[in-house]
Amino acid sequence: MQYKIPFNKPYLTGDELDFVGKSLNSQHLCGDGEFTSRCQQLLEEKLGAGKILLTTSGTSALEMCSVLCEIEPGDEVILPSYTFVSTVNAFILRGAKPVFVDIRNDTLNMDETLLESLITERTKCIVPVHYAGISCDMGKILDISCKHGVTVVEDAAQGVNAKYREKYLGTMGKFGVFSFHETKNFMCGEGGAVVVNDSAYLERAEIIREKGTNRKQFSRGEVSRYTWVDIGSSYLIADALAAILLAQLMNMEQITAKRKKIYDTYQNALKPLEEKGYMKLPVVPPECEPNYHMFYIILNDPQVRTDLIKHLQTKSILAVFHYIPLHTSPMGTELGYREGMLPRTEYISERILRLPMYAGLSNLEAMEVCNEISRFFAEQ
Ligand SMILES: *Cc1c(COP(=O)(O)O)cnc(C)c1O
Repeated sequence: MQYKIPFNKPYLTGDELDFVGKSLNSQHLCGDGEFTSRCQQLLEEKLGAGKILLTTSGTSALEMCSVLCEIEPGDEVILPSYTFVSTVNAFILRGAKPVFVDIRNDTLNMDETLLESLITERTKCIVPVHYAGISCDMGKILDISCKHGVTVVEDAAQGVNAKYREKYLGTMGKFGVFSFHETKNFMCGEGGAVVVNDSAYLERAEIIREKGTNRKQFSRGEVSRYTWVDIGSSYLIADALAAILLAQLMNMEQITAKRKKIYDTYQNALKPLEEKGYMKLPVVPPECEPNYHMFYIILNDPQVRTDLIKHLQTKSILAVFHYIPLHTSPMGTELGYREGMLPRTEYISERILRLPMYAGLSNLEAMEVCNEISRFFAEQ
């Protein structure tokens, strides 16, 4: 079905086609060509910390981190249940046992005050997911990880170009993960990156990314031939996709500014409905600078959400929700989790509604969404 106002629409800056053409003409179509290195350099300069390795997706970037953390069967990894499946799969694939932590009411990020009660001798990693591009409380999370000798892997898939106390998300843990999937702020269809913030791990990261070979060292002339030296997989993104990504990254601030405008429109126009008690709007803690990845509202009960989605649909506007909590999914149940174990996660997942959000959404369209939401509540 075609919507007048879809939920997401990939936004193109205008330079993508030119860069893709250059990439095709370069005759270097596989990974680690000119455009991959230009993206990596641009991000490294922008973030001012860490080494960037582009990958085929955020999912594969998480898998690389799981290998880098040397996860062994039985190791425990603490992560939210309120997240995308890739956050947990990456660690389960290495034999880890996921330990789900409930979320905060304000940011919907992991509740850092619950972490210490979940840490055991087997805890290897904590994976803060920066939901909607708003940072977790990294100050507290890093303190706890330091105290207990646990590695932090930031799932910043939604957090590219967002900050916490002046630091970019993805640069504070030992490793960070970005996604450039079509639905993210800066995209190339499918793509991702690992941020390696501890240089001691850079060489191994390069090897894992290159199918467990030391090809990278070979191409730098550091070894005379390349061979199998470790485990690994195929994590390089095709250079033509990196060409699309470069066009997006060169326009990061323009894209962010467009999204901010939509976010502010939603925030201002829906404020009166929040004041009347119909919904809750997103909260941004003062130490966080968001990237305006998402705009969501939290309704008072699940039925109102169902009715509002239907109302918007009749006006050809698509609003969607996520996530089915990981702990109540079939896989979560198999792992021994039950409904009722993470009350805030369950409460939010039944009441959250995400509004259309993409850089190409006009202010007029965002206003139309708000007007329809107001009309819905006026008719209640
Ligand atoms: C999008 C996303 C991922 C996965 O990224 P892909 O590039 O789609 O593989 C992982 N974690 C979170 C929180 C995400 O939003």
